[in-house]
Amino acid sequence: MMRRTRHDHDDDHDHAQDAAGGPAPGRRLTPGRKAVLDILEQARRPIGAYEMIDLLAASVGRRPAPTQVYRALDFLVEQGLVHRLASRNAFLACGHSHEASEPVAFLICDGCGHVDEATSPALAADVADVADKLGFAPRAQIIEIAGRCADCATKDVA
Ligand SMILES: [Zn+2]
Ligand SMILES: [Zn+2]
Repeated sequence: MMRRTRHDHDDDHDHAQDAAGGPAPGRRLTPGRKAVLDILEQARRPIGAYEMIDLLAASVGRRPAPTQVYRALDFLVEQGLVHRLASRNAFLACGHSHEASEPVAFLICDGCGHVDEATSPALAADVADVADKLGFAPRAQIIEIAGRCADCATKDVA
């Protein structure tokens, strides 16, 4: 279903379990949440909440209430299906399978806006080490790296 081809560890249940600790109502992917996820998965780029409202209005034919859209985005972020890019104030469908709690690095191109998502065991180990030393319990572990993608860097030189 939601998870893509990459066969890391584990199965579909991780996102839900990691998200909130303990049973909570409303884990279901309702049609409203699904519509938001579909738009993000098809776009393959970061989308802000206001643009999301416009895109939903265009696809459903009815303008959703902003609070409804924010709640759907929050839900998808909690489930690990969507990431929030703080530096862009935008949301992006998770690019590959990984645990919701795993550190993720985003490489964000200033030129074309392309975003690559990466995880690595070494990165996870280093982040855990840093947090452990300070007795810190991480909630979100997202690293946003700004710069030029390979394509734009090539154009810069030409
Ligand atoms: Zn991800
Ligand atoms: Zn670029």
